[in-house]
Amino acid sequence: MAELVLAYYVLLRSIVRAHPELRRCRTRCRHCRIFFLTHPRNAGRRDLGCPFGCQEAHRRRQSSARSTAYYQDEEGKQKKRQQNAKRRQPAAPKAPPPNPPPKTSLPWPRPILDYLLMVTSLIEARAVSLVELLEMLRRVVRQHSMARTRRIDQIIARLHEHPP
Ligand SMILES: [Zn+2]
Repeated sequence: MAELVLAYYVLLRSIVRAHPELRRCRTRCRHCRIFFLTHPRNAGRRDLGCPFGCQEAHRRRQSSARSTAYYQDEEGKQKKRQQNAKRRQPAAPKAPPPNPPPKTSLPWPRPILDYLLMVTSLIEARAVSLVELLEMLRRVVRQHSMARTRRIDQIIARLHEHPP
């Protein structure tokens, strides 16, 4: 994990160096303190959560706090009683569910992809589509694993020449 964060920082630094106009978009997560790039409309803000989980966790906490507050007030309690009464009634026979639309599962978490979409769109100064992004990521991952395969091959070859 530390290695990944380091690689991410090196990349972030090189992006900001190559695109000085993005320097003002660089900000720090107020929860975990990691640096990340934010959308220009949020440039200069220091109260943001990072897209690597903190933003999402914060949203979840807030929405559960909201629903707790809602059910705590009297109107909410009333509504909950009605819902429970409804739940106790026998359910009407249901029609078979329509075929659900095919769900494409993405190889990376959606918040991370959304973040990368924003960053690549900023860097390329155009709207990068999700499909394009996935293509880019696939190329990068393939190059990485090829490099790793080569490295492992080299290590094995060396071990053959000079057994430990
Ligand atoms: Zn964070």
